[in-house]
Amino acid sequence: MNGERTYLDWNATAPLHPEARAAIERALDVFGNPSSVHVEGRRARAIVETARDQVAALVGARPSEIVFTSGATEACNMALSAPWGAIVRAGIEHDAVLKPAAQSGSEIVDLRVARDGVVDVEDLTNKTRAAIARHGAGRVLLALQLANNETGVLQPAGKATEIAHEAGAVVFSDAVQAAGRIPVDFAALGVDAMAVSAHKLGGPKGVGALIVRDGFELPALLRGGGQERRRRGGTENISGIAGFGAAAEAARQTIAERWRIAAQRDRLEAGLVGLTPDAEIVGASAERLANTTCVAVPGLPAETVVIRFDLAGFAISAGAACSAGKIGASSVLPAMGLPEATARSAVRISLGPTTTDREVDRFLVAWRDIASATHKRTAAA
Ligand code: PLP
Repeated sequence: MNGERTYLDWNATAPLHPEARAAIERALDVFGNPSSVHVEGRRARAIVETARDQVAALVGARPSEIVFTSGATEACNMALSAPWGAIVRAGIEHDAVLKPAAQSGSEIVDLRVARDGVVDVEDLTNKTRAAIARHGAGRVLLALQLANNETGVLQPAGKATEIAHEAGAVVFSDAVQAAGRIPVDFAALGVDAMAVSAHKLGGPKGVGALIVRDGFELPALLRGGGQERRRRGGTENISGIAGFGAAAEAARQTIAERWRIAAQRDRLEAGLVGLTPDAEIVGASAERLANTTCVAVPGLPAETVVIRFDLAGFAISAGAACSAGKIGASSVLPAMGLPEATARSAVRISLGPTTTDREVDRFLVAWRDIASATHKRTAAA
């Protein structure tokens, strides 16, 4: 594990931002319970409320709409666990959406996704309206992510929200990969609830938020002391929330730098295709996050590629690496109609605000050595 490491797996998690670290360290000394009325309690409360303002500012929400949680998985579970008659969603959603939906007892309505990774809006319109006809207005949840964790493909969430609301459905959006990378405006988007996670944007792990539109109510998933205005019981994770707030504030700067990251990503992709001409950049024709490349080289198993790159000093991933230790076929790519073989060979390279041009160059040199060599060997076998 010695030697230079190059981290190109920012969609799995981001390194802790220095501002977040400083905020966490400061908050660790504030030991009061934010629910207490005394000075110690009020100091802790002030930290939580500052972070609430910072997170709200990042995503265009009101501070009163932020419900701090233990991460985006909890936030997604909270939105999906209400007693919906039907949940309308596509197979490209993260497991944090798919699994609670599957276990909710609600009818699951599956949406068609085009080969570029974008949900079929006509199908969404028809199926949402039909679900409303079966279950009634307000009883159907449309769950549509803003950006995909594996491909970076963006969804037409604003348009879909308009359609779903017109039909009488409620809309939830998983904005985990979008927040801090592209401008996200909760109010303008019009969704009823949205999930974000601190650790994808330079905050600590194990903290996130469900953003719930003022006036819209979701039942609490965790019931207890009535914290977060009775929407999430449990004494607040003060230092984690402080780190989330500071990271959210810092991420506003990152958003402005996305063009630089996009230029690095474009150069990376041109290099990959130049070195392995049969490489497919998944979702390349769709609007995507600036930092994400999902590349599949036919016949080149993703596991092999990821392990060889790791040994050579590069962190990249195969499939949805958000799930513990998972190396295996992606479920997102089959949902896009891509063949199993493509899914098995897809690796994700995701850049971040501190990725340098030199790291991109080094990666391309390693790709020439590893991917092209492995590819030739596999092809010859
Ligand atoms: N949704 C998406 C799109 C993700 O990429 C992740 C990553 O882990 C999650 C939800 C879950 O977030 P968390 O790790 O905060 O639970």
